[in-house]
Amino acid sequence: MRQPRVLVITSCTGEKRYKPKNQLTLEDFKNSARLQKRHEKLAQFLYPAGQMYTGVQHLRVMEGVQLLRQSLGREAIHLAILSAGYGLISEDKTIVPYEVTFNTMKGYEVNEWAKFLGISQAFERAIVGYDLVFILLGENYLRAAFGSPRSGWLRLPVENSSNQTFIFLASHLSANYIPDLAAKTFVLPLSNADAKHYRYGLVGLKGFLFKRFAECVVREEALLQKVYDEPEVFVQIVDTEPVQLELSLGLPEVKLSTKLVKKPKIGKSEDKELIPIPNLDAAPNLHFGMHYFIPEWDDRVDPRYDFLRDAMTPGRDPYEDDIYAHQIYYSPNYNGILVSKGIVERSKKKKIQIEEVGIHKFIRFSGSVMGDCGAFGYIKEEVPPYNTEEILEYYQRIGFDYGVSIDHLIVGSFAESGVREKRYELTISNAEEFIQKHQAGAYKFTPIGAVQGWNPESYAQAVKAYIEMGYEYIGLGGLARTPTQEILEILKAIHPHLTPNTRMHLFGVGRLNAVPVFRHLGVTSFDSASPLRKAWLDSAANYHTIDGKTYAAIRIPKVDGSGVRIKRLLEAGVSDRETLNRLEKNALHTLREFDAGRVSLESTLDVLLALDELLELPRNGKVNPQEKARRLGRHAQMYRELLEEQPWKKCDCVICQEIGIEVVIFRGNDRNRRRGFHNTYIFYKRFNALLKGRRY
Ligand SMILES: [Zn+2]
Repeated sequence: MRQPRVLVITSCTGEKRYKPKNQLTLEDFKNSARLQKRHEKLAQFLYPAGQMYTGVQHLRVMEGVQLLRQSLGREAIHLAILSAGYGLISEDKTIVPYEVTFNTMKGYEVNEWAKFLGISQAFERAIVGYDLVFILLGENYLRAAFGSPRSGWLRLPVENSSNQTFIFLASHLSANYIPDLAAKTFVLPLSNADAKHYRYGLVGLKGFLFKRFAECVVREEALLQKVYDEPEVFVQIVDTEPVQLELSLGLPEVKLSTKLVKKPKIGKSEDKELIPIPNLDAAPNLHFGMHYFIPEWDDRVDPRYDFLRDAMTPGRDPYEDDIYAHQIYYSPNYNGILVSKGIVERSKKKKIQIEEVGIHKFIRFSGSVMGDCGAFGYIKEEVPPYNTEEILEYYQRIGFDYGVSIDHLIVGSFAESGVREKRYELTISNAEEFIQKHQAGAYKFTPIGAVQGWNPESYAQAVKAYIEMGYEYIGLGGLARTPTQEILEILKAIHPHLTPNTRMHLFGVGRLNAVPVFRHLGVTSFDSASPLRKAWLDSAANYHTIDGKTYAAIRIPKVDGSGVRIKRLLEAGVSDRETLNRLEKNALHTLREFDAGRVSLESTLDVLLALDELLELPRNGKVNPQEKARRLGRHAQMYRELLEEQPWKKCDCVICQEIGIEVVIFRGNDRNRRRGFHNTYIFYKRFNALLKGRRY
């Protein structure tokens, strides 16, 4: 079935890309010869109308339009703008900045000027051929298009056909300016109460709701047809899908449920209680939602790894043939990837390859890629080993979408008085140079100003300064190990300085129980590799599940591999290779038989523990018998829980579906990293649920 053709009509905004002193005024528009001359003078400011306006409503509308186009194609939706200077124009018409608005005109002035511009006729021509028309106009703009009930409609009715559907998003009062039409019409009158309900300022609310609708259509294309058939469902659609909004709504019910959940003794739960939202207004940048970036660290696996024989694909090239998590899952389990300079330069070969093909192609990821300088790599240096110009060039050259200014960490011994001030000033002056040179050059990536600090005030002062410098994206560094409560104090101090256009990233902080409160306080993105890395770095929480419970993976090291543990065991004479080999094979075989339902849980545990008993790491050539007993006791309990509950059978992710029980075996890169990919999948699912005010 053909999708309805969509037209959006929105108004011009006072905020524009440029504001030259000699911009056009009302007088200029009255005489076409004069207008022509003035246009020539202002030619350097010519821009397509779609990109000229920078008011909140316009930005949100454009985001919604882009979303629909990405999903349905460019021709699926057209945009017209009602300009108080140019009349009704298409988004592609090039215009220059002007200072004219219907908002400040008196009723009769609106009528006269609209008549002069021929708006009503233009309106009639514009709507021909569209099935679904969204009209996002304020009171005087509606009046310009349709006239008014008191002075008589300009042209009544506007020529429209009964197989069209019109949706008006209009302020409460201006709903009176909407005439009766032959088309199916739905009017959503908006008031301050609605702004509160949607937690969005009244000024941009129309655009915000349209964008929200677009987000819903992107997820379910059939909604477009549905709204065409029954325009009233528009409200339900934008209401029932609280996209990245109203995060606090999930809180009371969550508190109740956590009381009922018994904490498992072993195999700890990640499901910590959500941190309550403080009594502060939601940050004005709430509409950005929240994005998760994963730091890149060559996290790849062999796609044809032979688990039964424990063999790599013969002749494989570890870069060419191995694949990333986003090549395994149907869609990525992150909104973007963070790549530090140190990772790019990990080897000479890698660096050359990345320089050759660009970052997106190298990591085979078409989504957002953020670049930073990896401040931990030079924490001990007095000054960072890079200069701003080379970093700007580097971000541009290899094609980053976002580039972070050069910062210097203020943590540990570097947070002492005397050192910290220097690093603080240095980080700020780097950020200033970064944005100035970025603005002067033709750089395509979005600049992010990196902030360091040592207390709420120092962070807040820097954020304030960055926003004044022109930054629209700020990244807070040095907080990866900071307790959540302290991060909250910092965010509260920053809160008053944030604008609706400010995005804010938290470097290295991925805490699910703080997602709603971080979001409320203005954090729009963060990065974390912790779910991935816990798969092999945590002593117990290796396999994560959707309800927050975690399990230990079963340790079966490769006896003939290069691991240190086996080497030490053999050196200390704890056991011999032959015995270990036999126990290893038996453990793997029995686990698979257990998974297939052919061996009991008790027999399987016996086999696993027979191996595990020998695996306690000798210290100075000797095994401590108490440590050994403790390890055995812990593992007996953790493995029993894992085998009893068999969480890998309940996971719907492609890795668990494909490799089954292998995913919970702690053994080599191809199992451990796949388990990390699974954890990332779980993390992303839980993160998105939290953003929607839900909880698993
Ligand atoms: Zn899974």
